[in-house]
Amino acid sequence: MAPPRIEGVSILNADLHCHSVVSDGTLAPEALAARAAANGVELWALTDHDEIGGQHRAAAAARAQGMRYLTGTEISVTFAGETVHIVGLGFDPDDARMQRGLEETRGGRGARAREIAASLAQVGIRDAYEGALRYVGNPQLVSRTHFARFLVEAGVCKDTNEVFRRYLTEGKPGFVPHRWASLRQAVQWITDAGGVAVIAHPARYKLTANEEYALFSEFKAHGGQAVEVVTGSHSAAEAVKYAATAREFGLAASRGSDFHSPDESHTDLGQLPYLSGELTPVWELLADRIR
Ligand code: AMP
Ligand code: MN
Ligand code: MN
Ligand code: MN
Repeated sequence: MAPPRIEGVSILNADLHCHSVVSDGTLAPEALAARAAANGVELWALTDHDEIGGQHRAAAAARAQGMRYLTGTEISVTFAGETVHIVGLGFDPDDARMQRGLEETRGGRGARAREIAASLAQVGIRDAYEGALRYVGNPQLVSRTHFARFLVEAGVCKDTNEVFRRYLTEGKPGFVPHRWASLRQAVQWITDAGGVAVIAHPARYKLTANEEYALFSEFKAHGGQAVEVVTGSHSAAEAVKYAATAREFGLAASRGSDFHSPDESHTDLGQLPYLSGELTPVWELLADRIR
């Protein structure tokens, strides 16, 4: 599929980053597909954290809504002591090595959740494990987002943004350091399964300039091919900055809302600026993987 190039922008309403109840979103894959289609999305990918259990449902729902579909996931990686997210697009959802790798990555989440609850108990917030579990759609995927929803319900914070300012992040109650997959593993799982690896929302990481350079060069050396330039978690200035980074490293560009929930996400599905026409859209690399 060759997306039309008109007036210096790549006019395709692609949304290649969002979350369902299979990870930490609040909508089912079918409801997300309906919402994406209603918002004019033409090419969609569901990218649940460390999990591809929703892929067949999402692809079928996309088809029912008349959208084209790319398989997706968002893998948690530890790089330079930080958690970095690598989106995978267009891989074979039945690839056994990738499924095993993601299962391992999910593996530590149960014990981590109990430690998060123990840390919150130390500041007087009780029963957070049970509270978070009430928001969990996939028992293998207890995430900080589920704790954040419980802390709002319990009246500790007014919204989940406040939770992540006061809790669950480095130096705050409820933060538990965790070791995720390596950058090399994540990129290999995706590319060996026929997909393209994408650095998610690069502006969100607390990396020094040297560490960020290392992230991009190592990512590229492992076979990574794209970076999110336009995302719900980038400002316009950040999108400009990472468009330049994409060109500097010879990476294709992706576009995705990172939508989680109608109540929590400020960027809705498909409601994003278009990619600038000087960039190679990631879907050009994946033309034969689009369903
Ligand atoms: P986990 O994978 O369990 O560490 O949870 C990470 C998830 O928490 C992310 O995917 C976001 O959905 C959410 N999150 C992390 N940091 C923030 C933040 N500062 N503001 C809002 N949501 C956040
Ligand atoms: Mn999330
Ligand atoms: Mn992310
Ligand atoms: Mn995400």
